Amino acid sequence: RAPIAAEDKLLLQYTSVVEAPPDDMCSICMWSLTEISGYLEEGEAATRISQTSGIQSDGVVSLNLCKHQFHLACVREMAKSFPQFLECPNCKTLHGEKLGNQPLGHMNVTTVRNSLPGHLDCGTLQITYNISSGIQGPEHPHPGRPYHAIGFPRTAYVPNNEKGKKVVRLLREAWRRRLIFTVGPSVTTGLDNCVTWNEIHHKTEWTNTAGHGYPDPGYLDNALKELALHGVTESTLV
Ligand code: NAD
Ligand code: ZN
Ligand code: ZN
Repeated sequence: RAPIAAEDKLLLQYTSVVEAPPDDMCSICMWSLTEISGYLEEGEAATRISQTSGIQSDGVVSLNLCKHQFHLACVREMAKSFPQFLECPNCKTLHGEKLGNQPLGHMNVTTVRNSLPGHLDCGTLQITYNISSGIQGPEHPHPGRPYHAIGFPRTAYVPNNEKGKKVVRLLREAWRRRLIFTVGPSVTTGLDNCVTWNEIHHKTEWTNTAGHGYPDPGYLDNALKELALHGVTESTLV
């Protein structure tokens, strides 16, 4: 027996069949939920059954966490491009664990006695990320071409207080899920195929409020928010 396709595993785990679909629009294909998916040919619908999972392609499902409804075939098409998780196209709720394409490397955390501006008397957690240049894999924009790791090792600073420790715990998890860096064009240098920060902001300078430094009273809450947008929250830690 063939193994169940990754997108079908997601469908089985994170969606439920809707028996009587309402006359609402599917926001993936823009057709009514009472008609068949724009991804299916007319007449093909009821006959298309996944070889590996036995799931039928026609019909409507709701995502289990947010309950938004889509054609099953539409969700399956969406799941094929990122088969580790489902992100609701309507409200961005993540179902499953979002994994990124951060290249191989090392993350290291040490404590520093000095305290950051705005966080006196707690000391500092210093994170070092090290990634070397390499060749892009199938999960990257240009497989087979090189990626350039410029400016590594990179260092970031977090106050060593309760909220800061939580941020670092979640950053370790984000690193494990390959979410801290990605490969693509660098806004700063204008070069393509670079290892770049991936939407989770870091304080890479000790001071300098105009750049990427302290003091910044909103920084830790902002980091928690950006981690949560990638699905990294305390309740998802194992
Ligand atoms: P980028 O320019 O494509 O931008 C992606 C995101 O990273 C943006 O949100 C941007 O605001 C943020 N960002 C940009 N520069 C940053 C910085 N210095 N510190 C923290 N966040 C920053 O991202 P990129 O290409 O990864 O980084 C930009 C440049 O900064 C690179 O050329 C890199 O060499 C340099 N850099 C050096 C260090 C270091 O510790 N030596 C640390 C960070 C970045
Ligand atoms: Zn649809
Ligand atoms: Zn939703």
